[in-house]
Parts: sequence; C-alpha cells; structure tokens
Amino acid sequence: MHSLDAFATAKLVDLDARHQLRRLIPTARIDGVILERGGRRLVSFSCNDYLNLATDPRTKAAAIRAVETHGTGAGASRLITGNHPMIEELEHRLARLKGTEDACVFGSGYLANVGIIPTLAGGNSLVLTDELAHNCINAGAQLAAADTQAFRHNDLDHLEELLIEHRDRYDHVLVVTDGVFSMDGDLAPLEALGALCVKHDAWLMTDDAHGIGVMGRDGAGSAHLKNKPVAVPLQMGTLSKAIGSYGAYLCASKPVVDLMKTRARTVVYSTGLPPAAVGAAIAALDIIESEPDFVALPVAKAQRFTAALNLPRAESPIVPIILGEETRALEAQKILSDAGFLVAAIRPPTVPPGTSRLRFAFTARHTDEDIDAVVAILRERIL
Ligand code: PMP
Repeated sequence: MHSLDAFATAKLVDLDARHQLRRLIPTARIDGVILERGGRRLVSFSCNDYLNLATDPRTKAAAIRAVETHGTGAGASRLITGNHPMIEELEHRLARLKGTEDACVFGSGYLANVGIIPTLAGGNSLVLTDELAHNCINAGAQLAAADTQAFRHNDLDHLEELLIEHRDRYDHVLVVTDGVFSMDGDLAPLEALGALCVKHDAWLMTDDAHGIGVMGRDGAGSAHLKNKPVAVPLQMGTLSKAIGSYGAYLCASKPVVDLMKTRARTVVYSTGLPPAAVGAAIAALDIIESEPDFVALPVAKAQRFTAALNLPRAESPIVPIILGEETRALEAQKILSDAGFLVAAIRPPTVPPGTSRLRFAFTARHTDEDIDAVVAILRERIL
C-alpha cells in the first residue's frame, strides 16, 4: 500500500477503535423537522435550523428570485467583482438588527472566525477563549499566531485572574466566547463579561451562531435579552442556523468592519456569498423581525422538554443529555432512531472525554407529541 494510504488507514483504524470514526450519511431534507435517511423518514432533533426557515416557502422563493436576478455564484472575491448589491443590503439589515454601525458578511461561520481573529489579534496580542468555545474560534486564534489561553467555562474569576496577570504584557487582549454554547445550550454571562473587559481594557467578541433568530428582542441574539442590550463590540454569528441559509457576519463599528473588508483573509481571498444564500437570509430576517411569537417557539419547546424530565430549565433551544462514554451515547442514538427520531450522539473531540451526549436542538415546528414521545423513550429506555 502507498504510504499515504497506509497513513490514512492507520488513522481510521485508530479512530474506529476509540468509537470516534464518523461517517457521512446521505440525508434529504423533506420539510421542517422531517428528514429522510436510509429510506426512512425521521423526526430530527439534530438540525440547527431552529425556525425551520431552510424549507420555508418564503425563504425558498427569495432564494429563487435572487438566482434569477443575480445568478448562482458571485463570480469573484467581493473586492474584485463579487460584491453584488444584495450583499450590502444584507449587511445593512444585520447591523440594524444588532444595533451596530456596520456589518461584514463572510462565507461561513468557520471562515468568519478564522478571518476575524487574526485580523484583530496579530503581533503582541493575547486571545483568551472560554474552554468550551467552538472549534473555529480556537482555529482563528491559532492562525493569528497570537498567544492564546483558555479560561474555565463561564468562570469570571478565572478570566479576571488571567487579565490581571497578563494584560500589561500585551498591546491588545481579545476575549472570545460563544453567546450560546453549541453543545451545552447554556449562555455566556455577557453583562459581567462586558464589564470585565471594559475594566481591563480587553475587546469582547461573541460567537452567537446559536443565538441569532431565537434569543432576545427581535431575535437579535444573546446580547439582547434585556431592554438595554449588552455592549459587545464584536458580535459574530452565522446565517446557517436559525436564519436557515449559509454564510456569517461580524456586526461591529464602521472602522472595524472597514478593516475586515480590506484585511480579513477570508473576505479578501474568498468568493462573495452566492445570491441565493443572501436572498434567503434577507427573507429570514424579514420573518424574524416581524414574528416575535414564532421566534420564541424553539426555546419554549426546549423548556417543555426540560420540565418533563425535571432538568434545569432550558435557556436556549439546545439541551444536552450527557451519558458519559461514547458507546452509551451511540446506543441511545440507535434506540431513538429505531423509534423514528434522529438525535445525534456527540462524542469527543467535539465534547470533552467522558461527556458523550445526545444533543437535542428544538425547533419551532416540533410538536408537543414529538417532544412527549422522546421524553418517554428517554425515561423508559435510556436514563
Ligand atoms: N460557531 C459556532 C458556535 C457553531 O456552532 C458553528 C457551527 N457548528 C460555527 C461557528 C460554524 O458556523 P458555520 O456552520 O456557518 O461554518
């Protein structure tokens, strides 16, 4: 065998032995929460499409209109010829929703974080990240070639210790956290984090991939839970979850956004967003801003679930059921799948060893009957 193939095969064998081999399974979106996999229709609790807007007739129609007007691809980087007018309309809409001066869109959430963080944190900078921050935040920090340290999850005292110890040695300190943690569903204490960053002259950045569209006033996200939003100077998020499309954004001040548009490598050297994704995202924002009762549904469904299982009240649409070893999570996934429910088992390295889990993501169109049925299976056969 060629040494390259031998290398890859040995890696795969090792991952399989540790129950960490992942396989792609063809999965068709039928409508809302219904997926088709292996010839079977399943009710999915594993889509981040919290408002089911990816299959909504209004967003689909907007995507089709955008293709008819602007074509299927942007054709080049935005700095060359790919800056079609809908992109700027989307940026304007995002900035308005978040209450910032401006916004810059990116190709995806992953591309956003690996573009934003190195643009802000080069040279003599320190990046402090929550230990449970999403993988692409850490990838961005690595690419920045800045010094990086993790603070204990949501631990303000630990963060302050690090700020006191290190602040003076660096020109800039960037503190990055998820707004809603993707695998645990809990929220960052943004008000206190914001105050701490002001006190120690650090820049706060949130990744609100799982907050936009489902949390706070007008679905503006986890910095907007109260009447007065928390002043987060760098608000990043994706268009791929509640917005039901693809792409991502940074909402920030005009100078910061201008800097991104001229220096962020994943803007400068990457093709502009495709018109269909932009059209669908704008239509999704129209729906989100005009239907507050609809926006509140995913969290309400999650709270029905946590109440039925006597778990702490859900704070977001995401609820983990932590089972421990990989095999327990995989067995639970199989039991639910046999009963017609798709709930992904999440394993290391996505989550820390020993915390493999079922991750439930609730959406507007889950019925009470769906929720009660999975609760019964969990009670009788899994927990
Ligand atoms: N940040 C967080 C917190 C996420 O959960 C994800 C998606 N898993 C991303 C960023 C990446 O976003 P995208 O899927 O748009 O690349």
